[in-house]
Amino acid sequence: MVVLGSAQPDSAPPAAFPETQATVAARARMVREQIAARGVKDPRVLEAMGRVPRHEFLPPGRRFQAYEDGPVSIGEGQTMSQPYVVAFMSAALELKPADQVLEIGTGSGYQAAVLAELASQVFTIETVEALAWRAETDLKRLGYGRVKVRVGDGYQGWPEAAPFDAVIVTCAPEQVPEALVKQLKVGGRMIIPVGPQNGAQKLLLLRKHKAGLETKVVMPVRFVPMVKGG
Ligand code: SAH
Repeated sequence: MVVLGSAQPDSAPPAAFPETQATVAARARMVREQIAARGVKDPRVLEAMGRVPRHEFLPPGRRFQAYEDGPVSIGEGQTMSQPYVVAFMSAALELKPADQVLEIGTGSGYQAAVLAELASQVFTIETVEALAWRAETDLKRLGYGRVKVRVGDGYQGWPEAAPFDAVIVTCAPEQVPEALVKQLKVGGRMIIPVGPQNGAQKLLLLRKHKAGLETKVVMPVRFVPMVKGG
């Protein structure tokens, strides 16, 4: 029944920001000029980055920045990573369609949507409740309802859903959290920025072998800190 003049209930999902020729073109250009040109070649990752409507994961006042070559503020003092960084980290995980992935730091949900294009199941943990709720709403609205979002402390990982083929951390702890290594399968990959809050952080790519952990330092980065006891 339609009641004229009634207010929208608070729980109504936000209306979709329309996809236009401009957003499609901006995204294709982002993939070409910011990502492929810098060396990310994995066709599945390029396709995923071309498909996920990045602007839909931003607050309305920030959408004009969606396809810029940098991080974008998502409120609560947090940011959505630069498109190149999202693509690079996704490619580093070498995801296969059947893989199960854990993300720490849901933020806007954008990275989780990209992962959902590449893997079978995505579990993502966010410490800020307001962000987790918004990301979950946006993911559902955009057809990524398969992504499971939890409010919690990423240092604990998600033991009930472990082990994972891949783990991606989008905030920087000072050291690699033990629980996350434990929850990685043998043969699994983890991409994680590690380092002090305002100092030099390094992006690490870890691979778990039967005999132990192989660590590669990939590049210098700057992420928001991974908060303790979140
Ligand atoms: N992947 C996000 C970017 C997130 S920024 C995106 O695509 O938009 C990093 C996020 O990590 C922030 O939202 C921050 O609140 C969250 N975070 C920080 N410490 C955390 C912790 N201990 N556990 C879970 N999330 C944490």
